[in-house]
Amino acid sequence: MAVNIPMTSRPRIVIVGAGFAGLELAKGLKHLNSQVVLIDKNNHHTFQPLLYQVATAGLEPESIAYPIREIFRYQKNFIFRMAEVLAVTPEKNCVVTSIGEIPYDYLVISTGAKTNFFGMKDVEANALCMKTVPEAVELRNIILENFEKAVLTTSLEERSRLMTFVIVGGGPTGVELAGALGELKKVVLPHDHSELDFKMMQIHLVDMEDRLLKAMSPEASHSAEKFLSDHDVNVWLKTKVKFFDGQKVVFFDDKAIPTSNMIWTAGVTGEVLPGFSPAALASGRIKTDAFNRVCGHENIFAIGDVAAVITEKIPQGYPMLAPVAMQQARLLCQNLKKVFDRKTDLKPFVYQDLGVMATVGRHEAVADLFFGKFQGMLAWLMWAGLHLITLVGFRNRIVALVNWTWSYFRYDRGLRLIIRPSKRNKA
Ligand SMILES: Cc1cc2nc3c(=O)[nH]c(=O)nc-3n(C[C@H](O)[C@H](O)[C@H](O)COP(=O)(O)OP(=O)(O)OC[C@H]3O[C@@H](n4cnc5c(N)ncnc54)[C@H](O)[C@@H]3O)c2cc1C
Repeated sequence: MAVNIPMTSRPRIVIVGAGFAGLELAKGLKHLNSQVVLIDKNNHHTFQPLLYQVATAGLEPESIAYPIREIFRYQKNFIFRMAEVLAVTPEKNCVVTSIGEIPYDYLVISTGAKTNFFGMKDVEANALCMKTVPEAVELRNIILENFEKAVLTTSLEERSRLMTFVIVGGGPTGVELAGALGELKKVVLPHDHSELDFKMMQIHLVDMEDRLLKAMSPEASHSAEKFLSDHDVNVWLKTKVKFFDGQKVVFFDDKAIPTSNMIWTAGVTGEVLPGFSPAALASGRIKTDAFNRVCGHENIFAIGDVAAVITEKIPQGYPMLAPVAMQQARLLCQNLKKVFDRKTDLKPFVYQDLGVMATVGRHEAVADLFFGKFQGMLAWLMWAGLHLITLVGFRNRIVALVNWTWSYFRYDRGLRLIIRPSKRNKA
């Protein structure tokens, strides 16, 4: 079945995924004499770096997501179709989607990444994740519900299990989440649940490496660990999870922590679509040349988290970061213009690394930037400024600014709502 898309004599560029990479590319192709078809399984773009704020009641979901159609309201050569892409059939120059087949002249895959459980089925079945807006809302519901359940139970063992959180993965996501939970413990939840003893609320951050934030400087790791311990977070390094059955986490040294809440932030892998030969894949991502062209396919490109740009200098590909995705999109835009003009001097991708930042709880952050290393409040102000600038939509920026200012002065997180779909709507 063919999808209802206007016929055109102009070349059709199909982009799969409206994340940082897909959006940037589609915007940049505004003036190219082409038909740009963007496909995403959601009708919104998600600003993933702030998902942890949704999960910990700091921001509403709507302020980190933005409707795709609104972004492209005035772009004449643009078409959006909400659909899940199921496979690519390069031999037919077509993608198979949940709404039918869509032919392309050029295809760009920007499907991002998905959580990697490294084959641990028990963890996959029982742990919580934070990769999408629904997952972040679910996490918020579970955190808040657990405190309601903790008030009800008379068993101290059960109460402690409900109030214990184990976060696995000491990268920026795990560190940010642990810090935000520490803030909830210190300044927010005790006001809601004065019947509970908050010494029972335990937050554990676990990583198999010898320091947190391994991709950042030792100074950043050291400060993050110190800030977290000030927020009552127990950091477990060189510690590897063996299994999690929904009741307790067991580590390889056979230590165990009773908890019903394990949050898995320990790994991601490319969201690779079926249809590519094994030769086009590398370490769970789509292998491309320096021009983001998928190996073995002249008219298919991959950008962002899903793309492993393998060169002699970068044999593992670039890290999965928003700036990498956006820079690749901008360059591909220039290169596609050259392809359309039949020019052959395409420019290879080289990442301009401006630095990395992570927040660590209440208005503290660590930042390794190209012009220096910063920790504490100054780093947090830089982090907040950057996120306000890059957040999509003016309304979202204002909402985030107001929420952060409110929580700073009021020691509050005002979005402590448990919201579940209506039972009538359940299948
Ligand atoms: C919790 C969290 C915190 C992060 N924090 C930071 C940070 O502080 N700084 C930083 O630089 N990076 C951070 N990242 C990483 C950053 O978000 C990613 O590098 C970035 O989103 C990659 O952009 P992308 O366009 O490749 O993919 P995404 O932004 O993931 O977009 C992929 C899009 O593809 C769509 N899609 C996927 N599969 C299909 C399909 N089959 N059919 C249709 N649509 C599909 C998805 O719906 C999505 O819209 C964080 C990530 C997470 C999860």
